[in-house]
Amino acid sequence: MLHLSALALLALLPADPDAVPADIVIRGATLYDGTGQPGRKGDLALRGERIVAVGTFTVAGQPRVVEGSGLVVAPGFIDLHTHSDTALLQPTTRANLCYLLQGVTTVVTGNCGSGPTKVAAHFRQLELNGIGSNVIHQVPHNSIRQQVMGNANRLPTAAELKHLEQLVDQGMKDGAWGLSTGLIYNPGTYAKTEELITLAKVAARHGGFYASHIREEGVGVLGAIHEALTIGREAHLPVHISHLKASGQQAWGKAADEIALILEARAKGQVVSADQYPYTASSTSLAATLVPPQFREGTPQEFLARLDDPVQGPRVRQAIQAAIDGRQAGKSVRIARYPSRRAWQGKDLQSIATQEKKSVLDIVLEIERHGGASIVNFNMSEEDVRLIMKQAFVATASDGSSQVPGDTVPHPRSYGCFARKIGRYALQDQVIALEHALRSASGLPADILQLPERGYLKPGYFADVVVFDPQTYRDQATFDQPHQYANGVRYLFVNGKLVIDQGKYNGTLAGKVLRHKNLAE
Ligand SMILES: [Zn+2]
Repeated sequence: MLHLSALALLALLPADPDAVPADIVIRGATLYDGTGQPGRKGDLALRGERIVAVGTFTVAGQPRVVEGSGLVVAPGFIDLHTHSDTALLQPTTRANLCYLLQGVTTVVTGNCGSGPTKVAAHFRQLELNGIGSNVIHQVPHNSIRQQVMGNANRLPTAAELKHLEQLVDQGMKDGAWGLSTGLIYNPGTYAKTEELITLAKVAARHGGFYASHIREEGVGVLGAIHEALTIGREAHLPVHISHLKASGQQAWGKAADEIALILEARAKGQVVSADQYPYTASSTSLAATLVPPQFREGTPQEFLARLDDPVQGPRVRQAIQAAIDGRQAGKSVRIARYPSRRAWQGKDLQSIATQEKKSVLDIVLEIERHGGASIVNFNMSEEDVRLIMKQAFVATASDGSSQVPGDTVPHPRSYGCFARKIGRYALQDQVIALEHALRSASGLPADILQLPERGYLKPGYFADVVVFDPQTYRDQATFDQPHQYANGVRYLFVNGKLVIDQGKYNGTLAGKVLRHKNLAE
């Protein structure tokens, strides 16, 4: 009975006092801890919902061992800028699969000033349904302004401003992380800087930050960054510039000036950061792209009446025509989603006009008369995109939303943003170092949010962890075929729970709502 006596002998040996009890151990991988330090070989142990050991250690118990040789281990990615607000409530998209398969474990909603305004109720609903990734929310300025004042092009009255302040205050008390604005969109575009400072002060009182889709991303972009910086200085809170870019050919090359302006503010001690999606096209609504804000006041019916008005109509059409002219006569604008004519999805405005034997302006007006469309706008230079991604203050963020394959032709960023930046720009083309790309997706966004216990591989931190194969981790989604999941994520842990196992999603909804800790007295 040699076997038994060997066991008995083992029992007599003193247990290693330093051995780490663990549920899962990833062995022999290259660990990138989120700080921007180069990777180092080591092990990672998880227990319950936490990381318990990083590097070299012995393990107690009988954990599941994941062979990590040849694989990269990094903190789960944090996407500061998504529009998944409602998608995360839907049965088909609540798992957030197109993001999980990129290695994203936390998404931020309430961006560009748009999203649920009743924060506590929204959080309860998310928790009741279950979610695939963690969710962080911001108080959305456009949505609260719409609620208080409708789509009105004017200053708020004193009473309305008070009401807006109360809504920001309540949202922050309920666990929002800050105030977000979208100053090209209705009705936030009608807000003056003073209103935004007043509301940002409320977020500041709770330790929140100010995130902004700034007023201008084209030739006037520097003025718009100035406005954001002013709001941060006056309201005493960190400023975050969403999807930093230089949009439109006339603005190409301005990325260097944008960066210089932000670095100058940072050098003076202001807390300023930005995010970016690594593509040369943006995506939003056709109306926000081509119709100037002064013509977008009121209801959709009022807009249509304005088009038919003998005095205003020609002015609106002239303004839209000028916007079309500035976008390669419609060639750079592609329809992503237009339920009224699905056959137009994936085609640019000029091709549609040629095919329909109409002018581009007529096509635009027809679309607006039939409920509007979302579009993809090819408006950036590759040089600007690359320059922005090299900056230490620029996080990776998709500006996309949770979706599943369908007949629309959306921007590929929802499926590919992180895999593109890390897999293509860092690993394949070496435009940036891998450790820089991984930090911009983990430690940096955690720092920007001041998010505790996430974003780094550290003992005691929550076990949001991605394990990917650097040989195959790439985006697959293209502008022509966007509904393609990313390749190469082998394992993904959300709050210590395995959700992607050997490249396959196992159906677990392990996400949590992450509520901001209220700092106000
Ligand atoms: Zn935006």
